[in-house]
Amino acid sequence: MKEIKIFCPASIANLSCGFDVLGLCLDNIGDEMIIRTVAERGIRITKITGADLPLETEKNVAGVAALALINEINPGCGFEIEIHKNIKAGSGIGSSAASAVGAVFGINELLGKPFSRKELVYFAMKGEALASGSEHADNVAPALLGGFTLVRGYEPLDIVQIESPSELFAIALHPQIEVKTVDARAVLHPMISLKSAITQWGNVGGLIAGLCTNDYELIGRSLQDVIVEPLRKVLIPGFDDVKLAALKAGALGSGISGSGPSIFALCKGEENAKNVSIAMSENYKNTGISFDIHVSRVNPIGVKIIN
Ligand code: ADP
Repeated sequence: MKEIKIFCPASIANLSCGFDVLGLCLDNIGDEMIIRTVAERGIRITKITGADLPLETEKNVAGVAALALINEINPGCGFEIEIHKNIKAGSGIGSSAASAVGAVFGINELLGKPFSRKELVYFAMKGEALASGSEHADNVAPALLGGFTLVRGYEPLDIVQIESPSELFAIALHPQIEVKTVDARAVLHPMISLKSAITQWGNVGGLIAGLCTNDYELIGRSLQDVIVEPLRKVLIPGFDDVKLAALKAGALGSGISGSGPSIFALCKGEENAKNVSIAMSENYKNTGISFDIHVSRVNPIGVKIIN
């Protein structure tokens, strides 16, 4: 019997202008999973701690992603999975993605790496479809590959890896309220104006260029969302005020993490990130809603084996 322990990082999707295509990997917040090879074929989830989630393989994103992988290569063994959650489900920082990614990464390692990390995105997306109803890669790609990722296209799947500037830090403030992904999708309009589209793709290009050239000012100017944020922010109490507090304290930019309710900010340098996190915390206390806040360097590696 072989067994490995894995760190499965949280992630921030969308990053204001890059709805459904951009994401980044966080460093010091994530789940742990233990995956073990067993003689009996199939996938069994044997233990979940830290969250009330289904143990049934077909009802858990980890199980669904793992099944997608083993159905592809049909190994002569099976796998047991333990999930130890630190990322709350429905937080908007890629809780479901962390489980999907951990499962496919761990099994791939135990099988001697038949797939590259990039190829694993496809299987992890199958798990994400269980959580949100659509196969999207904006959280699983950064959790698997680290740094920033751009989903250039889905047909065929084309993921672009972008290294993070070394001094970039991310903050994620998670208000303890529930925003269902279906509700966050329902407030969106299916049509957008040409004017908004032009603004948005200018910002996506600016953000990518800023990341590639370590231009923090350009990164900050590009963290603007004229399409999704104005419609979704009404679901997050105190959003405008805490965003303003982050910007006043020197954040490069701030917006909704994934489909919310988490609110993210990007900062240059650790000291600035700490100051911004204090300003955001002080401000969010005014809402009376309890919250968690995480300050993290951008994780350059993604999911990994730990001891
Ligand atoms: P998040 O952005 O935090 O991942 P989602 O709404 O996309 O939030 O996913 C959470 C949903 O996925 C919840 O309904 C949860 O019950 C379901 N789910 C199933 N398995 C898992 C798992 N292993 N980890 C997290 N969520 C899971």
